[in-house]
Formats: sequence, structure tokens, C-alpha cells
Amino acid sequence: MPEGDTYAKAAHRARNVLAGAVVTAVEGSAKAIRRHSPAILDRKVEAVRTVGKNLLIDFDSGLTVRIHLGMNGTVQVTPPGRDRDLAGVRLGLRTDRGAVWAVGAPKVEVGKRAAIDGALARLGPDLLADEFDVGAFEERAGRYPPDRPVCDFLLDQRVMAGVGNVYKSEVLFLERLAPDRTMATIDAATRRRLAERARRLMLPNTRRYNRSTRGLGDGSLWVYGRAGKPCRRCRTEIQEGWLGTPARITYWCPSCQQ
Ligand SMILES: [Zn+2]
Repeated sequence: MPEGDTYAKAAHRARNVLAGAVVTAVEGSAKAIRRHSPAILDRKVEAVRTVGKNLLIDFDSGLTVRIHLGMNGTVQVTPPGRDRDLAGVRLGLRTDRGAVWAVGAPKVEVGKRAAIDGALARLGPDLLADEFDVGAFEERAGRYPPDRPVCDFLLDQRVMAGVGNVYKSEVLFLERLAPDRTMATIDAATRRRLAERARRLMLPNTRRYNRSTRGLGDGSLWVYGRAGKPCRRCRTEIQEGWLGTPARITYWCPSCQQ
């Protein structure tokens, strides 16, 4: 599932093809792309960047393309001159260095950079920024409704940007918190630990092929996707459930997490 680290890796690969290069062909089924392709074609890409779970491509015309990968979207890169089946391609950009394809991405928007950045300013601080803005996080976290569960808190991109269901489950396991605990029971120091843990888990995965939260680089996780298997710490069976509003898949150990 695409989370902050997925976007950082996608941006890195897309940058190799796009940054500083002129777009020689625009393809894809996204409505915004069909409409704006004349304004993108033959323009130079100034930057490829991310904010939380948003991939942004800035053009020298002042336009920005914003891509959200949803649950199953991917960003693929192909070498120059390679033909590609366009099934599922929402956006394809070719340059003389290759092509970048956003496949299955539910949201692809094109707009003026200022407008897109303005909309993204509603998001909390980016967990993968060079410096995580702890002050902004604490201010936003302090305003979060105390009756909501911690599993929703971690996913709320207005508090901090980048966490999805995988890191949500992994952070809660490592901090030993049951996912349905309300925020009223979680103090400021613990909230801060949740953010720091999420950042610490996610950062190394921006440089790994397989996401891991166990420091092994082998793709292994503590609880996510492990329903019915023994907890790696205490051997209790890992639980799976749809928690929060809206309900989202969650994994936890009922013994380790209280
Ligand atoms: Zn356990």
C-alpha cells in the first residue's frame, strides 16, 4: 500500500527521467491530463517532489501535476523508446531519458502551482521532510478530538502527512498501544513518540526495495498482514479488524498492545 516512503521512492525514480528534461509526449486516461496535455507538452520539468502522500511534478509553465496513488496505484519508469500497453495508465510522460507512468492512480490533477500548494498547506508536517516540524505537529495533534481512536489519529493527514495502514499498525504495535484507544488516554509525550516512531520506521524504507519495519530490509513487518500468525514478541495470535471512521484494515497483538 502506497505510504510516504512509496512516494519518496517514486519521486526519486521519476526525477531521473523528468527533472530538467522537456516532455516529448503526454499520454494517459486521466481527465485532467487529456484536458491539459497541450500545456504540458514541450514544457520543461522543474522539479519532482512529494508532500506526504502526494507526488508533484512542477513544470516551467507554472503548472503542477499532482498524483495520489490511492490503495493500489503505482509509478513505473521505462527506458527511452519503449512502447507500453496503456491499460490503466492515468498519466504517461516521455522525455529523451525515458518515460514515467502513473498506473491505477485514482487522482491526477493539473493546476497552478500556487493553488495546488495552497491546498496541500492544509496537511500536517511531512514525516519525510528533511526536518520534521515537531511544533506544527504538536499544535495540530493538540487540537485532535479526544474521543477519536488513535488508529484514526495516525491516519489523519492534517495532523502529520505520510502514514497509511501499514505504518499505522506497525507504530501502534511498537508503542504497545491498542488501536481503539481514544486520544483522551494518550498524553502529549506519547503522541510525539508516535510521530517520531513513524518517521524513524519510514525513513530507511525510502532507500529499500522491500518495506520493512524490523530493520532487516527483507520486507518483514511486525503485525501488518499477519492475522492469525503468532506475535513475533509474545506468540499471541495477531488480530485483524476494520477499525476507525471510516473503517480501515488494522492489525494488532491483543497481548502486547493495551
Ligand atoms: Zn504480542
